[in-house]
Amino acid sequence: MNKEYDVLIVGAGAAGLYAALQFPENVRVLLISKRELTLSNSSLAQGGVAAVLDKSNDNFKLHIADTLIAGKYKNNLAAVEVLVEEGPKDVLKLKEMGVSFDLDQDGHLQMTLEAGHSRHRIVHHKDSTGSAIVEKLIEKVKEHQNVSIADHTLLYKLENNGRGFDAGIIHSDGSNEVLSVHYCILASGGIGRVYQYTTNSAIATGDGITFAHMLGAKIKHLSWIQFHPTAFAAENDRERFLISEAVRGEGAVLLNCDGERFASKYDERGELAPRDVVSNAIMLESHAKGNENFYLDITHKDADFVRNRFPMIYEKCLEEHIDITKDRIPVFPCQHYLMGGIDVDVYARTSVDRLYAAGECSHTGVHGANRLASNSLLEALVFSRRAANDIIRRLSEENNAPFEHIPPVDDLSGNGMPKGFRTEIRKIVQDCHFVIPKPEKVANGLKRTEEILDNIVSGGYEINRDFVEARSLATVAAIILREVNENDT
Ligand SMILES: Cc1cc2nc3c(=O)[nH]c(=O)nc-3n(C[C@H](O)[C@H](O)[C@H](O)COP(=O)(O)OP(=O)(O)OC[C@H]3O[C@@H](n4cnc5c(N)ncnc54)[C@H](O)[C@@H]3O)c2cc1C
Repeated sequence: MNKEYDVLIVGAGAAGLYAALQFPENVRVLLISKRELTLSNSSLAQGGVAAVLDKSNDNFKLHIADTLIAGKYKNNLAAVEVLVEEGPKDVLKLKEMGVSFDLDQDGHLQMTLEAGHSRHRIVHHKDSTGSAIVEKLIEKVKEHQNVSIADHTLLYKLENNGRGFDAGIIHSDGSNEVLSVHYCILASGGIGRVYQYTTNSAIATGDGITFAHMLGAKIKHLSWIQFHPTAFAAENDRERFLISEAVRGEGAVLLNCDGERFASKYDERGELAPRDVVSNAIMLESHAKGNENFYLDITHKDADFVRNRFPMIYEKCLEEHIDITKDRIPVFPCQHYLMGGIDVDVYARTSVDRLYAAGECSHTGVHGANRLASNSLLEALVFSRRAANDIIRRLSEENNAPFEHIPPVDDLSGNGMPKGFRTEIRKIVQDCHFVIPKPEKVANGLKRTEEILDNIVSGGYEINRDFVEARSLATVAAIILREVNENDT
């Protein structure tokens, strides 16, 4: 591996891969992913990507309005406009690359409705849109000679070297080295694993946010977390399978433990209200009934239609002995998405020079206090492209001579970290800051989280993935709880 790159991209989800594709041949790019290339939140995305593509029935103003309403008007309007107005071109670009979005009988993109959208504008590939996008993007990035891809490669440190960054990485064979890069795009995804129950993949431990925080970058609204109302309610699985919004979009109804519909009691939009409203309704109904059993019911729809429209959900539920064409699906809210993150401007620039962030780890402000369904893949595409283009512009304006210093290799050996820190952090955050937060528990939770973080960073432990992720989870948990303590809700 080279010792020097123009750009390091941390992450092989939609944001990292799409950024990599923008760079011309003369820009040397290294893209790393700490696990398999396909293990990411992007790969898990089911519902689709929102974009105004049918101008006869939809327009930018409506998409902007829906995004602002869902976000409780706490969005950054300039960023929302960029998202909505530029997004359709990126979605069409994916189609052009060969992402197999579902088409209607006339060969036009099929568009579905999701909660909070006033128009059918979600393009999708059945119920596995994310993996269809990721697989195509990986294929395309591999065609680019200037992009080196390294999977199972973990970033463990990122330090300012005056002209860019020294990036410490651990390779799949356990060896480590420190590279010098002129620019870095953090596309490292969300923080779901700081919760006991989440829809997020195992990589979502907030590493990029932690590196940005350690570099002094501004982090914003980390406590603005979206809870998805309808995750499959499996008792013991930490990673909970999502029953996509699109299932409600296609007519599924939400039932309480007595088999009654209740969502419209809490909001007139009923099952199709934004996610936070439906999650809240479930929690309030569960308190009222003293029972946590809730169900989605789509059995009234044609069985062939359901199987064909939701093949992955159908199969996954069957594995749990639920046939969704005949049985009600047990559901309950769980952590799903982070609205806050590393604060960036509309070019995805963080407050640290040469450091960019895109995708779920970033805070562009497009989502406000609550993300509108299917706006996040769109955000990952639009702002990662903008990050890359800004870097391309800067590279063309400056004359970056090769780095003179050769960073020494770090000794990563140390003591074994005690077990249990991660479990304890997850329990604290779940307890203090779930759908209806419990502010009275936050001060104690924060105190303990800070003790754990101190212990991790000063314990002289061996630096490996377990260490990096535990440090990230503790850092992220502490920032969330501090924000809640300071009332940033
Ligand atoms: C179940 C589920 C369903 C969803 N459905 C939709 C949907 O229908 N529509 C929609 O718009 N959004 C959806 N989302 C949200 C959306 O998928 C994500 O917000 C988005 O894909 C995030 O993309 P990303 O590129 O920012 O991060 P990710 O796709 O999560 O990628 C993060 C990458 O960073 C790498 N990484 C992290 N830390 C390190 C490190 N220390 N060193 C090296 N590499 C590292 C990981 O290995 C990974 O490659 C869904 C999310 C989930 C969980």
